Amino acid sequence: MQSCSPASGNDLIEYHVGDAEPVDPSSSTKGYSERHIHSEVYKGHPSVQAAVHSHSEAVVPTISGVPLRPCYHMAGFLRAEGVLVYEISEHWRGGGGDKRDMLVSNEGLGAALAAHFDDGVAVTLMRGHGFTTVGDSIEEVVLRAVYTQKNSAIQNIAALTTRAAYLVGGGHAGASQGGSGTCRRMRPRVLPR
Ligand SMILES: [Zn+2]
Repeated sequence: MQSCSPASGNDLIEYHVGDAEPVDPSSSTKGYSERHIHSEVYKGHPSVQAAVHSHSEAVVPTISGVPLRPCYHMAGFLRAEGVLVYEISEHWRGGGGDKRDMLVSNEGLGAALAAHFDDGVAVTLMRGHGFTTVGDSIEEVVLRAVYTQKNSAIQNIAALTTRAAYLVGGGHAGASQGGSGTCRRMRPRVLPR
């Protein structure tokens, strides 16, 4: 997608899942440099119907090493043990084989990220970069993208106020491990019907 606010079909670019190349070979631009995120997620997870990649600044503070956890009832889709983090430097090819600009700009880096979505994982953080989330519909993945940011912002504020916002052992107002499953069931209620 070229524009954040596409006005017509001309603002959209279709890509092949197999190699992330434009469907229209005469296209004057290859467009989105991180399109391998999407192609590799779809290739590795046929059940996934939509993916969002974001550079939201709300999630970048996880460079602190503090795990991102579900902090409130709208984020039950986040991994209760802590959201997985994609460390791109572990996947750079030696000898200058990859640009070290943090971007997921080729098939190998995309496949390494896509592997984080095994076992039904919904969100993966990307250290010093942003996050990617997947879902079984556009509505679901947009909801997950929005509430991943909001949950991160809540946790960041909680850290500033020196109180952990997630349950680490009992008796807390945040989303507990058990409560996370219950929160997950709220998803259909907030999707448009
Ligand atoms: Zn990116």
